[in-house]
Amino acid sequence: MPVIDNLPPLREVIATHELAAKKSLGQNFLLDLNLTAKIARLAGDLTGADVLEIGPGPGGLTRGLLAEGARRVLAIEKDPRCMPALAEIAAAYPGRLQAINGDALTVNPLEHLTQPIKITANLPYNVGTELLVRWLTPPEWPPFWDSLTLMFQREVAQRIVATPGSKAYGRLALLAQWRTDARIVLELPPEAFSPPPKVNSAVVHLTALPAPRYPADPATLNKVVAAAFNQRRKMLRSALKSVSPDIEDHLNAVGIKPTERAEQVGLEAFCALARSLDAS
Ligand code: SAM
Repeated sequence: MPVIDNLPPLREVIATHELAAKKSLGQNFLLDLNLTAKIARLAGDLTGADVLEIGPGPGGLTRGLLAEGARRVLAIEKDPRCMPALAEIAAAYPGRLQAINGDALTVNPLEHLTQPIKITANLPYNVGTELLVRWLTPPEWPPFWDSLTLMFQREVAQRIVATPGSKAYGRLALLAQWRTDARIVLELPPEAFSPPPKVNSAVVHLTALPAPRYPADPATLNKVVAAAFNQRRKMLRSALKSVSPDIEDHLNAVGIKPTERAEQVGLEAFCALARSLDAS
C-alpha cells in the first residue's frame, strides 16, 4: 500500500471506527490509496481550487484530493459514523478539510467554498444521478463549478457520453453534452471496492463549457427532449405531437425527418428544433 500521508491504512481506519459498510447508504469503499490518488488526479490540477466531495465515507478519495494539493476540501457525508475518521484527516491537513455530516441533497456548498470549485464524488447510483442532473441544470450558466469527476455504475456512465444511434443515448447524454465536455476517464471492476458491488463502475469527467454548445432555451429543449425520449420507439411526428400541433412543419424546417425516432437525432438538431418552436 503506498504512503500518501502519515495516516493509517484505510482497512485500519474502517476497523478502528467500526465502519462496516451499510447497503442502505450505498457504501462500497475504495481502499487502495494509489487508486484514490489516481482518481483525484483525473479531476485535473487541484492546486488553487476548492473541491466539493460528496460521500467521503472513511476518506480514501478525500486523502487523495488533499495529497494531490487541493486548496480546500468540503466533504459532505450522510453517515455520522464516518465523522471521527474524517476528523483525523482534517487534523493531518490543518485548515484544508471541512467535513459536514449531512445530506448532499440539502446542504448548500456555496456557503462554504470559494471559486474555482471542482466537484468529485463516489456516490450511490440514485443520489449521483439526481445530483448530476441538478449540477447540469442550474438557473444560470456557467455554473458554480468548473468540473465534475464522478464515479457511476458503468451503464450510467455510458448513458452520459452516449452518441446518437446507440441504445444508451437519451436525455442524460443530451443534458450533459449540451453544456459540458463529458468523457469516461477510468473503468473499474467490482473488486476495486469493498464490499464489491454487482456491476462494473466508471469515472466520468465533465468540464463546464463557458456557454451551451448550441443556443436554445433550456426549458423548451428539456420539454422537447423529454417528450421525444418518453416515447423513444415512436416516430417524432407522433412522439412530439403534444409539444406543438405543427410539429411536422417544425421538424421539416430544421431538417429532421418526421418519421425519424429520437435516438437518431443529434444535439444540434434538437437545439434547432427548440429554437424553431420558440420562434413561432
Ligand atoms: N468516497 C468513499 C470511497 O470512495 O471509498 C465512499 C464511497 S460510497 C460508494 C458512498 C458514500 O456516500 C458513503 O460513505 C455514503 O454514506 C455516502 N452517502 C450516501 N448518500 C449520501 C447523501 N445523500 N449525502 C451524502 N453522502 C451520502
